Amino acid sequence: PKMQACSLNQLILNFIKIFESQAFLQGVKIGIDLGEIPTIVIDKDQIKQVLLNLCQNALQAMNMQGTITIATRFHAAEKEVSLSVRDNGPGIPGDNIDKLGTPFFTTKDKGTGLGLSISYTIVDKHQGRIEVESTIDEGTCFKVYLPVYEQF
Ligand code: ADP
Ligand code: MG
Repeated sequence: PKMQACSLNQLILNFIKIFESQAFLQGVKIGIDLGEIPTIVIDKDQIKQVLLNLCQNALQAMNMQGTITIATRFHAAEKEVSLSVRDNGPGIPGDNIDKLGTPFFTTKDKGTGLGLSISYTIVDKHQGRIEVESTIDEGTCFKVYLPVYEQF
């Protein structure tokens, strides 16, 4: 992996430029709520892949309406940055929450069940973690936490 210092907010803005038109065609809006966050050391291409996987899932979960909100925050005490992707889709049943990230777990007719598995592996390699909050009929939020290393 090619780790480099990166502005996560800028990466998100660049990603949205491309993703927004795809979402627009499906009647879904993109909201952004970017906090003031420090530079983090990441493999840009891989984190872009995680963002794409989470946003594609959010888009597929929504039925031609709603908003996907992408947010970032700095958690100073924990020395972490979080990147969250929230949708107002149907939510994930409790039974399925535990299966998220298991290779080939899918509830879609033409799903591969690999998007989350790959994303969990990538975030793991960055020594981060992914947390999921989901409420039936309200929506789902995937939160990716990434460590901030001390700058010398
Ligand atoms: P795939 O998208 O090919 O099904 P993923 O690994 O990306 O594979 O996702 C696995 C499963 O997790 C999906 O099939 C779906 O059931 C569930 N899931 C993931 N993200 C969401 C979401 N935002 N809303 C509802 N369900 C989701
Ligand atoms: Mg997927």
